[in-house]
Amino acid sequence: MQIHKYDTVIVGAGGAGMRAAIEATKRSRTAVLTKLYPTRSHTGAAQGGMAAALANVEEDNWEWHTFDTIKGGDYLVDQDAAEILAKEAIDSVLDLEKMGLPFNRTPEGRIDQRRFGGHSRNHGEAPVRRSCYAADRTGHMILQTLYQNCVKQGVEFFNEFYVLDLLLNEVDGQRRTAGVVALELATGELHVFRAKAVVFASGGNGKFYKVTSNAHTLTGDGQAAAWRRGLPLEDMEFFQFHPTGIWRMGILLTEGARGEGGILRNKDGERFMEKYAPVMKDLASRDVVSRSIYTEIREGRGCGPEGDHVYLDLTHLPPEQLDAKLPDITEFARTYLGIEPYTDPIPIQPTAHYAMGGIPTNVQGEVLANNTDVVPGLYAAGEVACVSVHGANRLGTNSLLDINVFGRRAGIAAAEYASRAEFVELPEAPEKFVADEVARMRESTGSERVTEIRKDLQETMDRNAMVFRTEQTLKEALEDITALRRRYRNVSIQDKGRRFNTDLLEALELGNLLELAEVLVVSALARKESRGGHYREDYPHRDDVNFMRHTMAYREVDSEGNESIRLDYKPVVQTRYQPMERKY
Ligand SMILES: Cc1cc2nc3c(=O)[nH]c(=O)nc-3n(C[C@H](O)[C@H](O)[C@H](O)COP(=O)(O)OP(=O)(O)OC[C@H]3O[C@@H](n4cnc5c(N)ncnc54)[C@H](O)[C@@H]3O)c2cc1C
Repeated sequence: MQIHKYDTVIVGAGGAGMRAAIEATKRSRTAVLTKLYPTRSHTGAAQGGMAAALANVEEDNWEWHTFDTIKGGDYLVDQDAAEILAKEAIDSVLDLEKMGLPFNRTPEGRIDQRRFGGHSRNHGEAPVRRSCYAADRTGHMILQTLYQNCVKQGVEFFNEFYVLDLLLNEVDGQRRTAGVVALELATGELHVFRAKAVVFASGGNGKFYKVTSNAHTLTGDGQAAAWRRGLPLEDMEFFQFHPTGIWRMGILLTEGARGEGGILRNKDGERFMEKYAPVMKDLASRDVVSRSIYTEIREGRGCGPEGDHVYLDLTHLPPEQLDAKLPDITEFARTYLGIEPYTDPIPIQPTAHYAMGGIPTNVQGEVLANNTDVVPGLYAAGEVACVSVHGANRLGTNSLLDINVFGRRAGIAAAEYASRAEFVELPEAPEKFVADEVARMRESTGSERVTEIRKDLQETMDRNAMVFRTEQTLKEALEDITALRRRYRNVSIQDKGRRFNTDLLEALELGNLLELAEVLVVSALARKESRGGHYREDYPHRDDVNFMRHTMAYREVDSEGNESIRLDYKPVVQTRYQPMERKY
């Protein structure tokens, strides 16, 4: 086992991690640990754009953006955080431009902007063009730009290092950050990284669903590491389903397609969103559009022999516009479906997309140990975190923004903390938890297989904890997950080797997904209302009296080692906006 020592350690090299690294490296000795090569992070898959009220193409201002974000999140958004997000958006985009990001331009040479769901002029009057974009490869461009700037600044990367544990130790009765434990893929060796400050920027956890836009690697490792160390997870019941995934495959077709004028149609060719959202139509918020699609399907207006999808119609848009603004997704339709989007509508269905919940933080990125106290030295930013700027439903283009605004803030705060704090002693045998887990997996002769348990997990989640939920479906999901967790104890892997043992890592990732799925379902069962992405058919209305509050889930272990989940709640921060009924 090797021991390393850095002031600041950042876990993850997606947009949030690299934006944090650019700041932290200027201020402290920093290492970035990442299980993927930085430019393979999921940020690179983001297509449609990044929101900022630049007002380059039509009237706009950051206050409207704040309002849309809060309304989009069904009033579960912490309003102070949303104000920061919208206000700092403008500089965030300009920072990226200065770093060299090739945004699409208007004929006059300014950054071009397009429409996106839920973004409106003057508090919902009409759609507004707020999303800055680089064709339908915005995330790819952000990731490449940040990586180039990291290289320029000499950021130290440890690529293909899997962080498997968070180290905390008690100082004067308070738990503080001591570092992390990582497994090096190439050698199978364990590394302990001592650090004064640790920033989790390890991304989402959408792989517990089957039909998902998420990469294979989005397994919630950061959330699970914090969870196992007794830290809370906030609002995990809120998971976003993006309306337009490729039918049965879940591969994303950006909302930018509707931003450019694309229309959703049912089997009768009807533009059905006019019924559900008379003003914003196809550009209503994602939770609204996804529910509308399933309502069409359930009421017998779905397309195809099984009536299980609807169409995204781009055929009325000029081919030149599709080629210039949506080249990748039109190519996806050709490659994966054999469909020519110039002339034929594309079969789509909602796809699991984004975790609104995660590790709770304040607006500096400091991780909360409970409703009031922070964990000194621990930070989180990006999809792993919950600030909460997305509340119960994230608006499209607000996540690329979130990772830039709060990645930057967390990087600065962590490095400043590291420059004034002392190293915390490592706990005794710091690598023990990981070493034991790895040994257990390697030596197990159990009959269960990772792929089978993962498939069963994804099936129950898709069936029972998706766009529509009831007490009964959630209870079924919980029973299934409990049984799967039991089976998981008996899992074994084929590859017993040390080098490049991806079998082993997939097994550990599955353990994370199982734990997080359970938190999602338990939190969802307790929330007896419908709000944003969490829709309970047995409680179809929002209930501000009882549920205008964030869920805080904690893992508890009794003296016999039995685990349970305890739920607590945290007030929502309100500044200027009173909750209203949400209409689009
Ligand atoms: C297909 C798709 C399209 C999208 N389009 C848009 C869009 O147009 N606009 C928008 O705003 N949002 C979009 N989103 C959402 C947005 O892209 C993501 O929420 C955001 O990029 C997440 O960034 P991140 O830095 O938090 O995580 P990621 O980019 O996922 O990076 C996570 C990093 O953590 C590392 N990591 C994970 N686990 C470990 C571990 N155990 N040890 C070490 N390292 C680890 C990984 O190696 C990776 O570097 C899209 C998402 C998807 C899936």
